[in-house]
Amino acid sequence: MSDERAERIADLIEPLRVRPGSTVRLARDFDPGYKARIRKKDGVELLSSGIELLADYQRRLAAQDTYGVLVCLQALDAGGKDGTIRHVMSGVNPQGVRVTGFKVPSAEELDHDYLWRYARHLPARGEIGIFNRSHYEEVLVVRVHPENLRRQKLPPAARDDEVWERRYREINDWERYLSDNGFKIVKLFLNLSKEEQRIRFLKRIDVPERNWKFSPADVRERARWDDYQRAFSRMLSATSTEWAPWYVVPADHKWFARICAAAVLAHTLIGIDPQYPRVGDETRRELAEVKRDLEREAPEGAAPDPYAKAGKKGKRSGGKG
Ligand code: AMP
Ligand code: MG
Repeated sequence: MSDERAERIADLIEPLRVRPGSTVRLARDFDPGYKARIRKKDGVELLSSGIELLADYQRRLAAQDTYGVLVCLQALDAGGKDGTIRHVMSGVNPQGVRVTGFKVPSAEELDHDYLWRYARHLPARGEIGIFNRSHYEEVLVVRVHPENLRRQKLPPAARDDEVWERRYREINDWERYLSDNGFKIVKLFLNLSKEEQRIRFLKRIDVPERNWKFSPADVRERARWDDYQRAFSRMLSATSTEWAPWYVVPADHKWFARICAAAVLAHTLIGIDPQYPRVGDETRRELAEVKRDLEREAPEGAAPDPYAKAGKKGKRSGGKG
């Protein structure tokens, strides 16, 4: 990874980062139509090189087996969460990625503390976990629709007026604990404009193959647009921390949102800088011995070791494909 490339990624995402301690008002501070003066046709190239970069880092993350990454994706309906996951992770080995979607909590989930169901799906070391919706629903949909809180069977002291401030603190503490223990958290809010949501809803109605994506409940949620904007603004203000900052991804241009999401994830992986484990002298001596045996077994006319001069890429120097 060249420093120049790492720097370009850092520059691209810096305007999207919510400074810890700042007070966010979405409509004032973040433009859903922003695209950093990048043209769409350059964007295609940028995304595909970003995807390759992610694949390489993911292999190293898995090999090192020390750090894990948790990506939390939040958005309003039609914000583009599914498409972002599909595109950004398209180059990555499926074995190293775990995607979990969170819906209305089940009876079993409601029988536990509110973070329980999220903790059960955390990535392991070496993995990238993606939360399609996340523990942040607990201060978003639950806040906008308080009947969700009533269903959580909380003792009275846990559902007083301080509940939201307390949850912000508990979430920050939980994320700090994860981060201290090797699990880095990437938080992406796909910031869609009300007009672009209207257009995407219409597309879901007009194109039969997209009908399944639309539910009348989505329109009811749209009617609460201002309440959601307020809940998102408060969440961003209270839970963007040094150890787990929020990034507000402009989402009106899908292609640009995907570049940004890939860039934030790449930035985190660059920060971790995972390395392939190196074997010790003892193991290397053993490998050399086995290698000599294998070379002696080469059939007549075959190269004793077709990789011998291949260098670190592991390409064969001779012989058949
Ligand atoms: P979708 O992602 O479109 O399949 O919808 C999932 C639904 O589950 C959305 O309407 C969310 O608001 C809802 N949901 C997710 N998490 C929670 C939660 N903790 N409490 C209540 N509803 C939730
Ligand atoms: Mg939906």
